[in-house]
Amino acid sequence: MSPVYLDHNATSALRPQARDAVLTMLDQGGNPSSIHAAGRNARRVLERSREQVAGLVGAVAGSLTFTSGGTEASALAIQSAAATGVERILVGATEHDAVWENAQASGLPVATLAVDDQGIVDLPSLQAALELPGRALVCLMLANNETGVLHPVVQAADPVRAAGGWLHVDAVQAAGKIGMTFGALGADSLALSAHKLGGPQGVGALVCGTRATLVRRQHGGGQERGRRAGTENLPGIAGFGAAAEASLAGLHGWADQARWRDRLQARLQAAGALVFGEAVDRLPQTLCVAMPGWASETQVMHMDLGGVMISAGAACSSGKVKASRTITAMGRPDLATCSIRISGGWNSSEADWTRAGDVWLAALEVHQSRQNQVREVA
Ligand code: PLP
Repeated sequence: MSPVYLDHNATSALRPQARDAVLTMLDQGGNPSSIHAAGRNARRVLERSREQVAGLVGAVAGSLTFTSGGTEASALAIQSAAATGVERILVGATEHDAVWENAQASGLPVATLAVDDQGIVDLPSLQAALELPGRALVCLMLANNETGVLHPVVQAADPVRAAGGWLHVDAVQAAGKIGMTFGALGADSLALSAHKLGGPQGVGALVCGTRATLVRRQHGGGQERGRRAGTENLPGIAGFGAAAEASLAGLHGWADQARWRDRLQARLQAAGALVFGEAVDRLPQTLCVAMPGWASETQVMHMDLGGVMISAGAACSSGKVKASRTITAMGRPDLATCSIRISGGWNSSEADWTRAGDVWLAALEVHQSRQNQVREVA
């Protein structure tokens, strides 16, 4: 049986259209800053890709700056805010490290915005925090990477705007999985990443509205209208553009994933698993569950041995799983080391989701019989 990959929130499979676009640009070459024919072709591809990515989130192409990924996009927003008069940062408690760490590194005071037991930011707390002195940058992700839970960004945007703040939205997980329009979200900046939606790794973008001023972080050439120096990663950007266009065309396809995800969720719940974010709007292809007393790492290992790749609820960048900050913030620190995330992608099939359930339930049986043996011996 071929292995099943259900870890698309970590990185998704490369879409064929993206692969073709990357390979074409690797073959064609050309520097968009050159004025000869190869350069002009590269420039055309760059600007076409910008339109494709901006099109995915309903933004104006000129408002989009390509970066090396979602992390750099958030870093650029946070550092730009810090350089243009923001005095403090309010960060959602479940933000990704890409935002969390950049906020901490900014040198500005950082306060955390609490979330409820479903992982949703508490809007009255946001309002109260905005009333304190000092212009604020508010960082609120659109969809959480572990649970898929969607924050009410549109509702949060009004008070931020009224207080004269800057709303930065990390849409890395949401883009390509739910439809969105930058203007309607009410955000001042929006971070995107290609590899979460079927593009190549190492390329992302920051969309910036008219109220936000970007300040270049690295100095050099005048690329990206002076907002980000350095020769563009054109093969990556072309792949991002193609993946964004394919994602936009395939948005309707997520309804199937949601059905298959829900069926798996019901099977796991019937066996005693607790589901995070079940009661609120979530990404259609993300399932985060915990089995009390069964460590995330062990679950992930069992699944891997059974040919199904998933991840622990919390990211493990060095091979070691940390307690999930998201689950802790949702009021369940007791489950923060026993949660797993199963995330489908554009090429996941119904059989993949079914197999994930079969393997997990078989592993649970083994785990529970071992627990019983241990209890008997004791
Ligand atoms: N934001 C979220 C919500 C993510 O899930 C990730 C990646 O895991 C990032 C930001 C970072 O994106 P990138 O890997 O492109 O730097």
